[in-house]
Amino acid sequence: MGRTSKDKRDVYYRLAKENGWRARSAFKLLQLDEEFQLFQGVTRAVDLCAAPGSWSQVLSRKIGSQGSGQVVAVDLQAMAPLTGVIQIQGDITQLSTAKEIIQHFEGCPADLVVCDGAPDVTGLHDVDEYMQAQLLLAALNIATHVLKPGGCFVAKIFRGRDVTLLYSQLRIFFANVLCAKPRSSRNSSIEAFAVCRGYDPPEGFVADLAKPLLDHSYDSDFNQLNGPTRFIVPFVTCGDLSAYDSDCSYSLDLKDGSKYEYTPPTQPPISPPYQEACILKKKGRLAKEVHTQNCAVSKVDQPVP
Ligand code: SAM
Repeated sequence: MGRTSKDKRDVYYRLAKENGWRARSAFKLLQLDEEFQLFQGVTRAVDLCAAPGSWSQVLSRKIGSQGSGQVVAVDLQAMAPLTGVIQIQGDITQLSTAKEIIQHFEGCPADLVVCDGAPDVTGLHDVDEYMQAQLLLAALNIATHVLKPGGCFVAKIFRGRDVTLLYSQLRIFFANVLCAKPRSSRNSSIEAFAVCRGYDPPEGFVADLAKPLLDHSYDSDFNQLNGPTRFIVPFVTCGDLSAYDSDCSYSLDLKDGSKYEYTPPTQPPISPPYQEACILKKKGRLAKEVHTQNCAVSKVDQPVP
């Protein structure tokens, strides 16, 4: 596969490089903003799970221009610096990271908290959905400490079996909750975004980092929730129909007539988790799968040349 084949298969990947975005995810936030005007009046924002930083780029371009704009970006991974963005490297599920974020907003709350967090996907759907839900709850926990009343929270959500529970939990804190699917998010992916507007915690709610936000057990079928506990959110697709479809391949010459020229990635990852594998591969020492006589698959180390 040549280096241009991904450009052909994934138009948003290609456009991200051409427009100077660090990741194709930038288009998801831009399309969400087109639909919901997320950045209107926003001067202080938190970007949780931010690396490599395309959402922070969008935030700093949109709200950085408003003079006093402040963006705090957090991720497990190191991120190349971005002008006007304060960076914290840490795990958003850890108390110490949450405290570090909150201290930036003491006395001056944020207007917007976004979280595009995704766990390393295992392929075991229940596990992946559970991990994703925990990330969202960790982000919501932080949001309850830093958001101003009426503020907005946008977070990646997996539309899995137990998503109804998450919607109900979000609805406790926000006047308006809906589920949005930007056109740049592949239809084949269960990812969508919970867009929660009008932060309005229940009377008497005291945000507490030490306790899980909303204690629950996963041993019942949440889709059976009924009465006031059941909350069916509206589902909105965003990015108008003339926008590129992320599940299609496009000719390398785009419809506006512009000629294709290869663009390298805007910001390659600093120390990606697969770095060690790349080094081993270069040295010819990466374990390779072999099929034994009875068809079982085992891994063997390549000989050191
Ligand atoms: N929005 C980003 C952008 O536009 O560049 C892309 C985010 S990427 C899809 C998901 C990120 O979630 C990864 O960088 C990963 O390190 C981060 N992440 C996953 N679990 C995390 C955690 N517990 N704490 C902080 N970051 C986490």
